[in-house]
Amino acid sequence: MKYIIDLDGTLLDGEKANLDAVDFIASLQKKGAEFVIMTNSVKSPHLIRKRLNNVGIKVELSQIINPIIAMNIYGKRQNYSKAYVLGSKLEKEQVSLELDDLNPDLVMLLDFEKDALGYKELQKTFELMIRNVPVITASKSKFYLRNGDKFLDTGSFVSLLESATDQRIEVLGKPSLSYFKSAVDLLNTTEDKVTVIGDDWSTDILGANQAGCHGVLLKSGKYKKGDEEKTIVKQSVACLMDIIKET
Ligand SMILES: [Mg+2]
Repeated sequence: MKYIIDLDGTLLDGEKANLDAVDFIASLQKKGAEFVIMTNSVKSPHLIRKRLNNVGIKVELSQIINPIIAMNIYGKRQNYSKAYVLGSKLEKEQVSLELDDLNPDLVMLLDFEKDALGYKELQKTFELMIRNVPVITASKSKFYLRNGDKFLDTGSFVSLLESATDQRIEVLGKPSLSYFKSAVDLLNTTEDKVTVIGDDWSTDILGANQAGCHGVLLKSGKYKKGDEEKTIVKQSVACLMDIIKET
């Protein structure tokens, strides 16, 4: 069995390791079991590796996948070479396609907030969509919470553009099939030989099931009472070590 392991709420609780997470990864490594860490965060793999390293989890950069890596794989598979990217400098640096604001063959919607993107960029994306340039996004999340207040997220702008053009924007974050397929490809195996471990039923487990992977829901992080009724596997965070024994 190979593993796709979620980051936040599964291995990490903020900047601390969740119970058994360090031992679990060490046991996988000792057994030579292959795994990738899959997140919906668009932070760079270098930063993600540093967060893990700080709690004693040591992984290679090639073992981390985020939606931008999935977008790069998608772009390559579809033979796109030039992308118009809406996102911060740090996010743009992760894009492997050539950045082209004038004549792109793909649009990547990553983040509107950090670089204070607004009407001009939305209008430009709208015009590109009318010209049938495909658009992909990392997230359809409509808002996020900060200190209890709601803030507009990329998904709200995705909805606006979809509504204005009557076109669909593909999501490359979890639970998208394409994202899970990219992670399974990185493991060089087939979906039925992969177990996905996560704390969010709506992204980790739903995505795993749709892709044909096994799913293990942990009662940590985003877990909500009742989630276990929607999934085939019930586990608590303390059961991570049991998964190893069953391997
Ligand atoms: Mg999570």
